[in-house]
Amino acid sequence: MRPEYREEPCRSALNRVKGMMFGWSLNPYMGCAHQCTFCYVRAFEKRADRPSDDRYGASIRVKTNVVEVLRRELARRSWKGELVAIGAATDPYQPAEGRYRLTRGCIETLGEARNPFAIITRGPMIVRDADVLAEAARWAKVSVTFSVPTLDPEIWRTTEPNTPPPAQRLRALRVLRDAGIEAGVGMAPILPGLSDKPELMADVVRGARDAGAAFVWTNVLYLRPGTREHFLEHLARDWPEQLPRYERLYRGRAYLSKGEIEPVRREVAELRDRFGMVEPEHGSSSPTAAPSTKSRAVPRVGLAARRARRREPASDRPVQLALDGLVAVPAPTDRPRGNSRGTVVVPAA
Ligand code: SF4
Repeated sequence: MRPEYREEPCRSALNRVKGMMFGWSLNPYMGCAHQCTFCYVRAFEKRADRPSDDRYGASIRVKTNVVEVLRRELARRSWKGELVAIGAATDPYQPAEGRYRLTRGCIETLGEARNPFAIITRGPMIVRDADVLAEAARWAKVSVTFSVPTLDPEIWRTTEPNTPPPAQRLRALRVLRDAGIEAGVGMAPILPGLSDKPELMADVVRGARDAGAAFVWTNVLYLRPGTREHFLEHLARDWPEQLPRYERLYRGRAYLSKGEIEPVRREVAELRDRFGMVEPEHGSSSPTAAPSTKSRAVPRVGLAARRARRREPASDRPVQLALDGLVAVPAPTDRPRGNSRGTVVVPAA
């Protein structure tokens, strides 16, 4: 069923994030047409008294003025050029982006301001924006994470009903790497008893290596109220034999223990070694190439850009590590700047 698109301007583009390796998040859309059964955003929808069941993703808010608002916010004297995470609460390359091109506009604007940013997506449509990503990466830290929890066709189709095939994401990764953009794979969420099989995880790591991934990280499913009911309902329908195991694993808790997550991480670390993948380089946040004369002539955005030219990179740790483990996303409403009450912290899916 085609989603309904609601064109609603926003008051703010950047959302404050507390206690994370990045200070701000940006979501040009709210709601996600991909409708993954495990999507953690369902939990926020439930908290906000909005539907977190099959109706989630049926209505997408389009922040039609987000690019202009972002440009104003980046030009403020108070803006310090911190890392911005794009896509922590919705997929910035869901189908709506093909028409509205808001994510592209935001990337262009961040690039003009020489502001570091990290994107997480399941959408191969990102290759359309390889030009603006490459230009932005000349001046500031830019990192792209493709979510590829599995290449298994049955698990993908059943749990991510409206996403493009994972193999397309790996092809998109190749295109970005060939364009000189730091990009890698987030294997998340790994589903116990389904996508945690060593041979399936090996397929993803091998595919990531073959696509030139700069990094691979992983995380295991967590189920907060809102996501929990929806996921377990679908599990009961799709893999009924797994239901008792999940009810036991997630009884009375949303997150598995370190002892249950660690074997998955260890397996992925061993696979990285086996397939000859290196750990991400630290200190890799410098611009990837010296600025060209042509680029210098491009007008930049106000004071923030002038400060950015003088500034050292915001962080010397690879950006993808900021998305490994905990990601903070805003509650799905616009909040006034400086009000952190709308910020909630969740592990990345
Ligand atoms: S997990 Fe990501 S791609 Fe899937 S529905 Fe949620 S926001 Fe969209």
